[in-house]
Amino acid sequence: MKFNDYPIDSLMYITSRPDIVFTRGEGSWLYDNNGKRYLDFIQGWAVNCLGHCNPGMIQALETQARKLINPSPAFYNEPMTRLANLLTANSCFQKVFFANSGAEANEGAIKLARKWGRKFKNGAYEIITFDHSFHGRTIATMSASGKPGWDTLYAPQVPGFPKADLNDIASVEALINDKTVAVMLEPIQGEGGVIPATAEFMKQLRELTRKHNLLLIVDEVQTGCGRAGSLFAYQLSGIEPDIMTLGKGIGGGVPLAALLAREEIAVFEAGDQGGTYNGNPLMTAVGLSVIEQLIAPGFLEGVRARGEYLKAGLLKISADYGMNGERGEGLLRALLMNHDKGNQIVERARELQPDGVLLNAARPNLIRFMPALNVTNAEIDLALGALRTVLDSLA
Ligand SMILES: *Cc1c(COP(=O)(O)O)cnc(C)c1O
Repeated sequence: MKFNDYPIDSLMYITSRPDIVFTRGEGSWLYDNNGKRYLDFIQGWAVNCLGHCNPGMIQALETQARKLINPSPAFYNEPMTRLANLLTANSCFQKVFFANSGAEANEGAIKLARKWGRKFKNGAYEIITFDHSFHGRTIATMSASGKPGWDTLYAPQVPGFPKADLNDIASVEALINDKTVAVMLEPIQGEGGVIPATAEFMKQLRELTRKHNLLLIVDEVQTGCGRAGSLFAYQLSGIEPDIMTLGKGIGGGVPLAALLAREEIAVFEAGDQGGTYNGNPLMTAVGLSVIEQLIAPGFLEGVRARGEYLKAGLLKISADYGMNGERGEGLLRALLMNHDKGNQIVERARELQPDGVLLNAARPNLIRFMPALNVTNAEIDLALGALRTVLDSLA
């Protein structure tokens, strides 16, 4: 395939991509090189929380690009400090480290927990994680993940990540020993198929980790920044974790991530942690615009309302097609189907005419919805109507 006479085979193969090139985006819509438009319910993988090319983000990017792009991570800059202050003012954490990807933020969380264990827990280093969890694609975060097959893909793994079962507190308790330093989980397993940890389980985890003096780490790379209908998903269960990581939505589409910790946990010393681009003003200025828009009066209420609207539509489809319901929070939801045609559905929805719809099958038997948080009910109707058309075509 060629695009504007440039063959694209020079890109290293990592996955099969459709023969289209996206050239433009606006809100919930993406446009390809043939001028066809697509209603986007993937949004860069739950990344573009404010849709494509959000005006506030563009302005922040433009203004900052003219002022200062990168003074180096060894110096303070204004957007970095403002964004850190906004995050601590709106969470239970007092300290922030900025990174460039979710995996990198999680690596930081793992290092911080191990450092804390060395300092306060006799060198304890094991972090209990969960089956079907996803924490990133570096070697350590792959080792922390409970994705089937990842234990052998780039073996040997980084040791120290025993796996428990989500929503089964006894399975966590059984793994605790004197080497254990933390428990780490996604409040809603995203890549695993939108599987929420129950509020009761989160409370049990908090109690158990307090009892054994362990850190509770929430990976909110996918669930954070409004996605689950509250600014952070841990807030839904009324508990306060010790460490949180953010990615995806915090940058609204640009590479930005963060590691947050309570004051007494933030034990890095000079030279322990860093990164060339961390806290650079260009990306943190965009993150500042994103978070300011998310906490504007009424915005998160709107996310919850649209989440309920999507949920009602999915339940209706489930009932009409004899499926198994839906699950999720806010605008991270999944339709639980009664067959394994997820990948076929994704392909047919994209190929619909005149407008395609971009969907994701996190597993073959479910469709995951992660639209822009400012998607409209009319756009939700369009996406669900298209899904019905595709389901009918498969019947
Ligand atoms: C996407 C994701 C990551 C990895 O983020 P990257 O920016 O791709 O490194 C980590 N944890 C969760 C829960 C995610 O959804």
